[in-house]
Amino acid sequence: MRTSIVALGAAVLAIAALAGVRAGAFEPVQQEEVEESARGGSGAEAKATAPKPMRVVKSNAEWRKQLSDLEYYVTRRKGTEQAFTGRYWNHHGDGIYRCVCCETPLFDSKAKFESGTGWPSFFAPIGKGVVKTEVDRSNFQIRTEVLCRVCNAHLGHVFRDGPRPTGLRFCMNSASLTFQDRAAAEAEAAARAVLESDPQPEAGAGEEEADGPGPGPEEGPAPGR
Ligand SMILES: [Zn+2]
Repeated sequence: MRTSIVALGAAVLAIAALAGVRAGAFEPVQQEEVEESARGGSGAEAKATAPKPMRVVKSNAEWRKQLSDLEYYVTRRKGTEQAFTGRYWNHHGDGIYRCVCCETPLFDSKAKFESGTGWPSFFAPIGKGVVKTEVDRSNFQIRTEVLCRVCNAHLGHVFRDGPRPTGLRFCMNSASLTFQDRAAAEAEAAARAVLESDPQPEAGAGEEEADGPGPGPEEGPAPGR
């Protein structure tokens, strides 16, 4: 009798331990972990490529007009493209992946890896604050949905079985992304940096010149006189 109780106790403990491991592996990924992964991943590039995030809100009719049927189904209806059919699962270009809806840079190809799943997979987003997560309880599973923070596009899910350095696997739909090669992305970032660093238009400067002690028109005669 006593041995059977001990055995039962041991069995219960073993099951609890197993359940504990499973709960850990399948626990929803927290937003802080996603932000932290951006630091460990390719975050450095984000500063160069990411514009200031602003909310983009459009009606379903507007999205439908802008997107292909598949892009609309995936991003605005939380659909999933078939594995091994998307444009990027086997894509190896050097550059950045933007949101297909609002063009926010989301992932760097440097954080892309071969997951064998048939969907483009990354171990980190390109920077902090570009994606957000939500617990997804559909299909009798608990998963962590990944969305574009700027326009709320459904991108895919994040799992805890990714490679180093983050251990996360961002399993994305090709249909929610659009690729831009690095040279084009850097040229665009450089152009934007110039625009953003430009001082305010001439008006203020002109006034200051007129009132200021700078050389007036009477000073500095032409060399010929
Ligand atoms: Zn977006």
